[in-house]
Amino acid sequence: MTEKLYHLIGGAKNTDGQSTGQVFNPATGKQTGQVPFASVSTVEAAVDAAEAAQPGWRATGMAKRAGVMFRLREIIVARKRELAGVITAEHGKVLDDAAGEIDRGLENVEFCAGLVHHMKGEFLEQAAGGVDVSQIRQPVGVVGCITPFNFPAMVPLWMITTAIAAGNAVILKPSEKVPSAALWIAEAFREAGLPDGILNVVHGDKETVEAILEEPRIKAVSFVGSTPIAKSIYTTAAANGKRVQALGGAKNHMVVMPDADLDSAADAAISAGYGSAGERCMAVSVLVAVGDIADELVDKVAQRMGDIRVRNGVEQGADMGPIVTEVSRDRIESIVAGAAEQDATVVVDGREHDLPAEGFFTGPTLVDNVTPGMAVYDEEIFGPVLSVVRVESYDEAVALINSSRYANGTAMFTRDGRTARQFTFDIEVGMVGINVPIPVPIGAFSFGGWKDSLFGDTHMYGPESFNFYTRRKVVTERWPLPSESQINLGFPTN
Ligand code: NAD
Repeated sequence: MTEKLYHLIGGAKNTDGQSTGQVFNPATGKQTGQVPFASVSTVEAAVDAAEAAQPGWRATGMAKRAGVMFRLREIIVARKRELAGVITAEHGKVLDDAAGEIDRGLENVEFCAGLVHHMKGEFLEQAAGGVDVSQIRQPVGVVGCITPFNFPAMVPLWMITTAIAAGNAVILKPSEKVPSAALWIAEAFREAGLPDGILNVVHGDKETVEAILEEPRIKAVSFVGSTPIAKSIYTTAAANGKRVQALGGAKNHMVVMPDADLDSAADAAISAGYGSAGERCMAVSVLVAVGDIADELVDKVAQRMGDIRVRNGVEQGADMGPIVTEVSRDRIESIVAGAAEQDATVVVDGREHDLPAEGFFTGPTLVDNVTPGMAVYDEEIFGPVLSVVRVESYDEAVALINSSRYANGTAMFTRDGRTARQFTFDIEVGMVGINVPIPVPIGAFSFGGWKDSLFGDTHMYGPESFNFYTRRKVVTERWPLPSESQINLGFPTN
């Protein structure tokens, strides 16, 4: 049975499409859904609905808006397993991992439930004699949110929740590979009391995104995806006069110093390298072994890899699921094959792992003696492949990381606080973990990388998101008596 998916526009299901896409369960390799791709006119219809609903939402009291956030949280918490199942069926990640992504998305719902605090402005009494100045936050209007396949619930919740809390209306375009979680969340928002038209979901690929970027009534665009697309979204949206934040790809290095606890470092490398089959923007993909510990570290990682159970994500005890598509799986395996030809050492080859017969599976892979210039190092693989780069010193490790075009996350494993502090000071990366392999900031901070991992100057979720989704307006006022009125052609001063 192939499920026919739909856009959600103004609270109504809509199946208009200039074409359709296929949705697969990557654990079986079978098509499970068909998704309509929105044309320009469908995007326009969504913006009509958003534009009509937004003034009423903006005028809704802050406490009522916060109430929607609280109810949304209750709905998602109560039905988390159901949403996790929706994610696993299209993405492939194991159910526990899907539940973990939902928890991290909920952090932002919880942060947004405090919107009365985040939306409140500033007031300065008596800025000049009898003059007061205040700053207020107002929504930007209709915003577009374009999300990737790898976090079908968390990344939408990063964007739409803040945008809505701030009083905007949203056009959400989820990944066409994993479209159902976005619809689930939109229905949950409706159940929580969000008025129709404030959250609209349109599906599609390049053409639908272009329609969003060209639509003059969309004032801001948030994007998360691969670097080439992020860069082009940033350029086009900015050229069209929109504010834009576009988060791109990653190649995250984990440095292991000679004094580190190597068992802990190996455990962390396994978790962060192979969790979610490496399809996380904060996954560790390069292990930087400093000094003479490389042989021991590689042995310890390799020893642990045989225990990783690669299975359909719904199976009890599964550690790692399939890759999202057959094309991605084949690309990953061809990069590993290329590494062997370029004199890297394939220590563990994922193709030889115990794998299910059907579906888009590959196993965890470990490649040693990797150097910059090899595709396995230079490209974002976005799969369960850990590369080991051997360096002599701390300085060499820092130079390696700082010369990468990507700068999303990085981690250092050490027992020495002084080295850790110096690393935090020296490293040109947006998010740093010290003995923490995946340093995704908690919801009260904001998330973002540097260099080709983020185009724009605003990080996502948390406090910076409220800046992105609001315009600040500064009001200067005085209330003079008629007798105090005078003409003065000079520039107003204090
Ligand atoms: P992607 O760039 O292929 O797609 C992202 C979105 O862009 C999807 O909605 C897709 O439909 C749309 N899109 C695809 N091609 C397009 C085109 N030519 N023009 C306009 N829009 C287009 O990314 P993906 O494969 O879905 O996700 C994986 C990528 O996302 C990885 O590179 C990963 O590192 C990155 N990612 C980054 C972060 C971060 O926070 N920096 C978080 C998650 C994922």
